[in-house]
Amino acid sequence: MSFKDLDLNESIQKALVELGFTEPTPIQKEAIPHVLAGKDLKISAQTGTGKTATFLLPALHKFAEKPGTKVYGPRVLVLVPTRELALQVAAEAVKFSKYLPKIKTVCIYGGAPYPIQNRQLSRPYEILVATPGRLIDHIERRRIDLSGVEMLVLDEADRMLDMGFIKPVEQIAALATHESRQTLLFSATLKGNVMKLAEKLMDKPIEIAVAPEHVRHDHIEQRIYYVDDLHHKFRILDHILNDTTINQAIVFTSTKRFADSLVDELLEKGRKAAALHGDMNQNQRNRTILRLRRGEIQVLVATDVAARGIDVLTISHVINFDLPNSTEDYVHRIGRTGRAGASGIALSLAAMKDKYLVTQIERFTGQQITTHTVPGLEPKARSESRSSRPGPSSRGRPAGGFRRGPQRGPQRSSRFSGGR
Ligand code: ADP
Ligand code: MG
Repeated sequence: MSFKDLDLNESIQKALVELGFTEPTPIQKEAIPHVLAGKDLKISAQTGTGKTATFLLPALHKFAEKPGTKVYGPRVLVLVPTRELALQVAAEAVKFSKYLPKIKTVCIYGGAPYPIQNRQLSRPYEILVATPGRLIDHIERRRIDLSGVEMLVLDEADRMLDMGFIKPVEQIAALATHESRQTLLFSATLKGNVMKLAEKLMDKPIEIAVAPEHVRHDHIEQRIYYVDDLHHKFRILDHILNDTTINQAIVFTSTKRFADSLVDELLEKGRKAAALHGDMNQNQRNRTILRLRRGEIQVLVATDVAARGIDVLTISHVINFDLPNSTEDYVHRIGRTGRAGASGIALSLAAMKDKYLVTQIERFTGQQITTHTVPGLEPKARSESRSSRPGPSSRGRPAGGFRRGPQRGPQRSSRFSGGR
């Protein structure tokens, strides 16, 4: 099946050809016809499965075929949890609408100055991509009217709820009063609060779930290195970074503070490193992503929320310096490499006593993570030791290496079940 079979407007097809999109992804194949038919949909699929185009392409198709009577305010509203994601979705919208010159996209998010956003909002536009908090600010200042929203998209709904946006999302949805409003919800999982939200906001939604088995990161090789302590971790990281096949790497740490100190250490060693985390203001974050795209950064040290949505094709390696807090975070992290079908390598460093976490990840993804060692840097702890039970190990906790500290994001329902 090619994109032609979806019968999208010619101008959109032209842009897709230029972008090298030849075949729709499974989720696009399945969902786009329903979206075109005006149905409500709740879709669960993992990162990198092409969800953005799943809502943007039909939205643009509708605009192209049915130009609006010029009302003020957006015809499509995309709510996203983070600024990075907002920028990324807006950038895709601009690319897909290259040959639809009348279609304008506006992107608003917190941490950026108001005047520019105010100016953008004062001109006509069709697509609004926004984070909930800043959107509410603008609504309260009467700069945005949502009554003309024909399509409401909740992207990464699970993450939005995790970040405490449930009230704002409901408040926003209540203002999108168009009588034939279509609502689309995208989430890694359709459980708990996400389900409740879907029930509240949607009308007989069609559910599409791409099971993890079908969206396996088959083109990403997953490895694990067991380590004895923090010092051992550093040495293995150093060894990995000396690998000449690394183009660009993202190193994940569990705290912002540690991300900063790791960057200092890497810079000290002469590596082109930079941090990306929630303590940085929007300008700093944008600049960092831009530098990454330009290849001025070789090693980006990031925390989970900040790295969500990073879509840089040249990232060859993802390195989990600290294991993530949940299996979903693991999948999101490794999805930062191997973008758009490229191959990638995901490496995790873990203490032997955290082996049960690795087993949980394997069970969730249905894929095996192979154990590797660096010659001369083998772990002293024995890998045969059964470590499926969490708890204090006889070898003692590595100093600081596996803190899943208080600076982490809000608790999620899908935390690893192992107690700690
Ligand atoms: P998700 O939201 O599911 O994590 P994205 O929509 O961000 O995934 O898509 C991941 C990457 O794949 C992006 O770089 C996007 O441009 C690319 N992509 C999406 N659909 C296609 C397609 N049909 N053909 C080629 N590349 C695609
Ligand atoms: Mg997405």
